[in-house]
Amino acid sequence: MNIRILVTTLISCLVIFQATILSVEACSFLLKGEQQCTHWSYQKAAIWQQECPFSSCGGRSQSPISISLYQTTLYETYFMNAKAQSLIMYDFSTDDKRLIVFRGIDNFFQQFSFSVINNNHTIVMESVNEESISIERSFWIRNNTWQTFNSITVPYYLKQFHLHSPSEHLVNSESFDLELHLVFQRNDLPSNTSEALVPKLAVVGILYKVLLGAIDNPLVDIVIQNVLQKPRVIGKPIPTTVTGGLLFDLVTARQQFDPLYSYFVYNGSLTTPNCNENVMWNLINPNIMSGGYHYISSRQLTTLQQLMNQNKPHIAEGANLGKVQINTGSAYIGNNRPLQPLNGRTIINIVKKLL
Ligand SMILES: [Zn+2]
Repeated sequence: MNIRILVTTLISCLVIFQATILSVEACSFLLKGEQQCTHWSYQKAAIWQQECPFSSCGGRSQSPISISLYQTTLYETYFMNAKAQSLIMYDFSTDDKRLIVFRGIDNFFQQFSFSVINNNHTIVMESVNEESISIERSFWIRNNTWQTFNSITVPYYLKQFHLHSPSEHLVNSESFDLELHLVFQRNDLPSNTSEALVPKLAVVGILYKVLLGAIDNPLVDIVIQNVLQKPRVIGKPIPTTVTGGLLFDLVTARQQFDPLYSYFVYNGSLTTPNCNENVMWNLINPNIMSGGYHYISSRQLTTLQQLMNQNKPHIAEGANLGKVQINTGSAYIGNNRPLQPLNGRTIINIVKKLL
């Protein structure tokens, strides 16, 4: 990299860091040469496009959306066996209806390395070794019948996962208490490929609901205890590890064995500026699982919201943690973007069935 650009970037990052709240994300985007909107807030979500004129926030394929079952196009997919380690997803960016298989979390006891980063909008767990978990396009169906195994493999690597509360997407007009996003990035695209044609990101979304009287969700508790409950230091990555078993359970829960397993797929955008419209969304249908919703306890929801509370002062890197007063009484604002118009986009409802 050009030294002058690097120095300029570092200086601008430092200036922004001192002047206001900064996400690490912003600096890394600047280093890649892409202009990144850094001064946005959920309170002013309606004017993101005005505040960030170079962004795609005013585009016609934005996320999140409200999904109604009657609007969706049904695809039934048939499989020879219930691959426990595979989350099957449909990629309609090409005409030949390839499916996507989740890989890399086969070993429940393998440790995956992440950095926990509080970027003042959410708490992000960034993957240290991106290639350790991936989703791959490898199956092929046509006319809803099983055809053949396709040797072409297109990997999307897990970049990070993060949380929104309340949920960003609605299903049958219903809002949920928590939405987990696992963000995968495709790294094999030639530089001349149009992002509008081939989604560069694939996000798996999982919706959680508070179940009255429920005991703590053990999976969410592991996240809270081992991943999220760290000092609120902006921009300082905190190393942590997550087991393959935890990630597998977060993504699949019991749904792999549910005969009514289903998920929604549509082309959309990032739900924060720059709102890039290069995302293949895969939202797991929360309504038809035999085990009911993914649930969390109200205590867990409160804890997560306190961790993500943007009203709460953040601790700057290097501050003496013992002297910082943290206001725990401020109201939680929420980090969910308002619903965006569908604008004629297709939503596919994938139902997975066994042959
Ligand atoms: Zn998100």
